[in-house]
Amino acid sequence: MQCFDCAVQLNRETAANAMCRVCGAGLCLDHAYPAYAQEEVHSLGSPATRRLPGRRMYCRECVPSYLGDVATAQRGRISAAV
Ligand SMILES: [Zn+2]
Ligand SMILES: [Zn+2]
Repeated sequence: MQCFDCAVQLNRETAANAMCRVCGAGLCLDHAYPAYAQEEVHSLGSPATRRLPGRRMYCRECVPSYLGDVATAQRGRISAAV
């Protein structure tokens, strides 16, 4: 499998190391966002979220909004490397 973002953005064929768990796109190390999933915990009076165990891989399009910092940091890293 090839990295989808490399093919679309950079017209480059890069072997994919991961797969976005949301859209299924192949991702190289530059385009994969290793993160986690979380779920809402419904309890009286104090709505909260709970981080789920394990790792989730996302492409830049599918990074959940609560992981905005992760995406921003990695976006900076990618643009700096170009
Ligand atoms: Zn890539
Ligand atoms: Zn995706």
